Amino acid sequence: MCYNITPNRLSIYFDFFIMKTTLQKKAIEFCEKNKHRISMPRLEVLRIIDESKKPIKAYEILEKLGKKILNPKPPTAYRAIEFWLKHNFIHRIESLNAYSACDAKHLHNGSQYLICDDCGDVIEAHQCELPIALKKSTEEISFIPRKWNFEISGTCKKCV
Ligand SMILES: [Zn+2]
Ligand SMILES: [Zn+2]
Repeated sequence: MCYNITPNRLSIYFDFFIMKTTLQKKAIEFCEKNKHRISMPRLEVLRIIDESKKPIKAYEILEKLGKKILNPKPPTAYRAIEFWLKHNFIHRIESLNAYSACDAKHLHNGSQYLICDDCGDVIEAHQCELPIALKKSTEEISFIPRKWNFEISGTCKKCV
């Protein structure tokens, strides 16, 4: 393992390692296995998104990161967000311009969200594959889908 640890940061790392959730643990394993750097901003950004109860916007992530790291620069936060997005640990909810940690037990490419118009609850409706009708139409034109994003707005069962 190759962590960039200086003594004053050690306690924060310790804090990270004892509080890790399944997703955070999975992320550390993923980085070790694929030889990605496990930097503190990277881990903290994932943790902030993972611990947020609702989808979180980039500026809110940066604000929270500022409580962990002295004056984090916006590109530091954005690069970390991009990294986790690229590797499917988080999803971007386009209509809310916000990010959410993936709820599925494994990493997958597409993201499907049900967004309640009344209470604002966001539910991940996880599917690994594109719906058959769409898959067929991409195949017909030899298009290779890599990522996709569905957002369905409606009313959740609490608000019916
Ligand atoms: Zn997901
Ligand atoms: Zn609702």
